[in-house]
Amino acid sequence: MGTCSGTCASSATTHEELREKFASFYDKAKQHFHDPKSSITDDELKQELRQALAGVRWEGLVQRNSGFYCSRHTPVTQYGMWSNIMGNVQSCPLQIVKPTSLEELTSVVASAAERRLQIKAVGSGHSYCHAPTSPGMLVETHGLKAVGKRHAPFQGQLQPHHLRHGSLPLIREGDKVPWDKSDYKPTEHSALFESQGGVTIEELVKQLEPLDLALINIGGAWWQTVAGYCSTSTHGTGISLGPFCSEVKSWVIVTSSEWKVIPGQKANVVPATRGSKGVNCYRVEPFDGITDPKKFEDPYITLLQSDEVQEELKTQAPSPENPNGYPDMLLKHRHVEFLWDPYERDGEHAVAQMTWDIIPQPTSCDGNIASAGVECVPEFIGELLDRIEECQFLYTITAIIFNLFPSATPWLVSMALKSQVGERRGTYYNMLLLHTAENAGFASELVFPVQQNTQKDAKIPSPFNCWPLPRNAGLWTLENVQSGIKTIAADVKLRVNTGGQFVTSPMGIRFVKRCSNYLSMMYGSDVCTIELDMAYGTWGATDLMHQFEFHRIRESGARFHWGLNFEGFESDLLPWLYPRLGDFRAQKKMFDGDERFHNNFTSRLPGLAARDEK
Ligand SMILES: Cc1cc2nc3c(=O)[nH]c(=O)nc-3n(C[C@H](O)[C@H](O)[C@H](O)COP(=O)(O)OP(=O)(O)OC[C@H]3O[C@@H](n4cnc5c(N)ncnc54)[C@H](O)[C@@H]3O)c2cc1C
Repeated sequence: MGTCSGTCASSATTHEELREKFASFYDKAKQHFHDPKSSITDDELKQELRQALAGVRWEGLVQRNSGFYCSRHTPVTQYGMWSNIMGNVQSCPLQIVKPTSLEELTSVVASAAERRLQIKAVGSGHSYCHAPTSPGMLVETHGLKAVGKRHAPFQGQLQPHHLRHGSLPLIREGDKVPWDKSDYKPTEHSALFESQGGVTIEELVKQLEPLDLALINIGGAWWQTVAGYCSTSTHGTGISLGPFCSEVKSWVIVTSSEWKVIPGQKANVVPATRGSKGVNCYRVEPFDGITDPKKFEDPYITLLQSDEVQEELKTQAPSPENPNGYPDMLLKHRHVEFLWDPYERDGEHAVAQMTWDIIPQPTSCDGNIASAGVECVPEFIGELLDRIEECQFLYTITAIIFNLFPSATPWLVSMALKSQVGERRGTYYNMLLLHTAENAGFASELVFPVQQNTQKDAKIPSPFNCWPLPRNAGLWTLENVQSGIKTIAADVKLRVNTGGQFVTSPMGIRFVKRCSNYLSMMYGSDVCTIELDMAYGTWGATDLMHQFEFHRIRESGARFHWGLNFEGFESDLLPWLYPRLGDFRAQKKMFDGDERFHNNFTSRLPGLAARDEK
């Protein structure tokens, strides 16, 4: 055994020491907030908190995952390993490759096929499940971030002269938008814009802005890639807005399989003039997609237009006349989100309601968020919570407080909810995004239909028969959501009472328009999503998520989010959750006949592989 000479780092403050340091603050806070007769002032509490925080040695106090140190905004690749941002998913592929062009990507896929290796693309590692992992080659896609340019286009870039007559204008960097920039009509001024799949939402938004363009909708964070957003059906909130993938009009797919038109199938196919050895690149669109097959020509990319491959959703919902009985509030505001307190007080759960609308000039408006239903937090708590967003180390403190004083959790959750009350203004991404709060926690999301299924398939058992096909999506219903919320609330109570395990955040409730992508959580029905959030580093958090998914899906028929899940779902439920799973599998077989793109995550989902065909 060696000896330690020189200065050794002092060890972390122990939990016992911390508990002592915070005890006085906690006692006073309890009195201040729960005893109406308390004479303790905000200033005294602030002083107590300052004293409690002084001299704490933080390192090692928060529960960490083994391997990579986390959490952070970007995934890590080192020593041949890849890890998602939270560090709960790690993969040790045979090879990590970082192509920067279509040509490089095609040779990567060709080499995987030649060596009979599995291959999988990853984006920014913002999924909590093992979807972005590979036992063979792992394609790190951040180098594929080119956007459409007028001069110096990227390989395979779509050009305005390829488009069908009457299509929306295709804008590239270096182009001018065909409207007067001072004439602000965001809902009328729409255009197409092309990028490669590895560009992050942040990079894309920043490149769109000087062109006087913006994304129609985004999720709560912008570090993810466009392809990552699309693969998991990432969504924002607003019943008139589908998930991000539903806005994509044309996809380029690189595969080692070959798509063959089935006789009798309605399809436009314009083969690549040169092609690449052992690999096929397809530009995939619906039959009447944006590209004109008579005008399209590309050396490497085959145009493939077929409703078998990508179906446009013909029926739109809800209509302005509102025959489906949607609540006014959902139709009146572009974005609506609720934050729901999972803890009951006097038999009630507090809810903060947030709405956002398009505003003429962000800097001159009177505010764009109006929250109701809960009062504001005391000013100093608001300040503290604002500072949390600025200082990453404060997340550590929050987690420690949760872990030290679990019974204070409902109070902290209620503070977090109240901190949302107030008016904010700014560009859309300044209001809709979590920003630095992004890695403060993690989430599991369950998705419920808010439209009745008018024609239930007798073969699908309840509660899974709540999911309609697009043509069977009927009147507005909150029945499924309510029963979901009820069972979640009961679960929260049970976990607190029996194991002292607390949910450490309010839950986000959002609304999303349906879409036609067979395996999207929004397939067939407008939906309500419930996000179960947890503060990062709190004890038992991932187990809790896992359990929630496990029970709730079977009991309520909810779909799980493809990225925001901890694999607590029972995979045999997939055929019940997605009525068009068989059609998806048939499509997948055309694009991935040799199952080159399977990994441990997809192969444990029965129904996804061709071999699962009955
Ligand atoms: C802080 C945070 C906030 C979030 N907010 C929201 C939200 O508001 N709404 C919501 O719906 N979701 C949200 N999510 C979930 C997140 O958007 C999804 O999990 C998304 O898929 C992550 O994108 P990514 O680029 O990190 O992809 P990854 O997590 O790296 O990969 C996700 C999937 O995409 C595949 N993939 C990635 N790139 C490619 C490619 N080029 N070609 C083929 N396949 C590819 C991967 O193989 C994998 O299956 C959030 C997640 C976090 C961590």
